Amino acid sequence: MKYTTSEKEILSLVSMYNGISRKQLAEISDLSQASITKITKKLIDEHFIFEGERISSGLGRKEVLLYSNPKKFTFLGIDIGGYTVRFALSDNSMKILHQEEFFMAELDEYPNKGEALLERLLHFLESLNTPLSMISAIGIGVTGLVDRDQKTILNIPNRKGWDDIEIVNIFKQTFLCPIFLDEGGRTMAIAEKNLGKAREVRDFIVVQIGFGIVSGIMINDQLLRGSSNVSSLLGHITADEKAGRCLCGNYGCLENIITFPMLEIEYKKRNGQYSSIVEAYERNDKVAIEICIDTGKALGIALSNVVNLFNPTAIYIGGPIFDSLPMLLEETKRTIILRANRFATLALSLEENSFGQQQGIIGALTFAKINFISDLKEAASS
Ligand SMILES: [Zn+2]
Repeated sequence: MKYTTSEKEILSLVSMYNGISRKQLAEISDLSQASITKITKKLIDEHFIFEGERISSGLGRKEVLLYSNPKKFTFLGIDIGGYTVRFALSDNSMKILHQEEFFMAELDEYPNKGEALLERLLHFLESLNTPLSMISAIGIGVTGLVDRDQKTILNIPNRKGWDDIEIVNIFKQTFLCPIFLDEGGRTMAIAEKNLGKAREVRDFIVVQIGFGIVSGIMINDQLLRGSSNVSSLLGHITADEKAGRCLCGNYGCLENIITFPMLEIEYKKRNGQYSSIVEAYERNDKVAIEICIDTGKALGIALSNVVNLFNPTAIYIGGPIFDSLPMLLEETKRTIILRANRFATLALSLEENSFGQQQGIIGALTFAKINFISDLKEAASS
């Protein structure tokens, strides 16, 4: 079966909103009511979408809401962080059915990281009795650099041995479905755009901080990639040269200041009395609070520069670091408002991201589905 651009657009919109009326579809897509009626009939007949409940739309008329058919497709998401890897299977409505998480360090002993990851993945699917043929598409988000063709992991700055891994080709020997690879900050931005708070926002930035820093920048509804596909390296911009040498080779990277391991090192350096900065923070320890203020300021300065360059409508920030040390986020926000240009911050909203610690894996799954729809065989527009 082939699909027109308009049919794919409607399919994407129903996926995004998952509960949207034909009238709303017509408003968002600029297609006529007649086209929407025809397209949705085809998509319903082919079980891509289904009609749910009726809602009142004023003037006594009731509108039927349309949903993705959860059973139509199954997606596999892989979120390769600097510290952990997550696998998840979702249905077509992006509901996660199964999920597994393990430490990246568990793959350290294997010389061929791509093969080791594949083996681990096959084990995950086998334990769920999921045949490979059931998977419609795979989305991989990685906290690292990806080549321009989006087939190879060029480098993961925080991990040794993850250089030039032709991950898509390795997986292709086992899976017949399409496999999509991108940098993790970008897949997180795709999740925010399609399923999160940024549905109506065209210019925004997603920032996630834990054991590493990732960010995705969307400008005018397009992901910023750069000429070599390595843009948005927020973690590796120089924030304080005194912060020492980063694993990427540079000095004073933001990642050398504001990740969990770096905050712990800083806490020890300042002779903190508790066993961890998180414990110290919970006990209102002065040193822990000082570190939150200093590092929040560093992140705020870095993001102020980003705000001045790109003038986004929103920044969506998240990650375990802010869950454990909320004052750090407060200081970051305060600094952005203070430092970035006042015309750029006038309408800027600083919010927590939509999926918290699941942002990476939801990103990988959404990325799989969005690309899968866009790759459906093209029919001539009618
Ligand atoms: Zn660096």
